[in-house]
Amino acid sequence: DDSLKGAFMGIEERLPGGFLLGSVEKIAGWARKSSLWPATFGLACCAIEMMAAGDPRHDLARFGMERFSATPRQADLLVVAGRVSQKMAPVIRSIYDQMPDPKWVIAMGVCASSGGMFNNYAVVQGVDHIVPVDVYLPGCPPRPEMLLDAIVKLHDRIGQARLGERRARQVAERDSAALT
Ligand code: SF4
Repeated sequence: DDSLKGAFMGIEERLPGGFLLGSVEKIAGWARKSSLWPATFGLACCAIEMMAAGDPRHDLARFGMERFSATPRQADLLVVAGRVSQKMAPVIRSIYDQMPDPKWVIAMGVCASSGGMFNNYAVVQGVDHIVPVDVYLPGCPPRPEMLLDAIVKLHDRIGQARLGERRARQVAERDSAALT
C-alpha cells in the first residue's frame, strides 16, 4: 500500500546508491565462499593437520564447510595435503576434472607446493604441474590454523571474483592443455 511504499522509498533515500538492488556478483560470491565443500582427499602427513582443522577445536564448519565431500562431483575445493607421487598425479587430475566448475585448489604444505625435501624422480615438484593452484600454503606441516587462514584468504578472492571470469579461465586452461 501507499504507506509501505513511502517507507520503502524513505529507506532507499538514506542508503548509498544501488544498495537495495545489490550486485548479483556479490551475492553469488558470498554464496560460493560461504558454502565451499572440500573433497575428501589426503596424501601424506599434511592430511593429519587438514583433518585436525575439522575437529571441534578448530571447527571448519563455522566457515560453511560442514563436511568433506565423499565424491568429487559434490566438491568445489581440493586441498592437496601432502607430497604428490608420480603415481598419484593422474589420480589427482582425474579427481579435479570430476569436480564441477567453479572450483579451487589449495596446495597444503611445502611438498604439495614445490616437492619440498623430496627432490627426486618419484615426487612431482609441485602440484601446479598437474592442476591450477589458487593458494600455496607453506610449512611442514602447516598447522590447522594456517589452513584456516588460507581458506579465509581464498574466501576473499572468491567474494571479489567476477561472474564467469573463473569459468572462462578454466576453459582456456583446458583448451591449451588439449593442444599440448
Ligand atoms: Fe609431510 Fe611435511 Fe611434506 Fe607435509 S610438507 S607432506 S608434513 S613432509
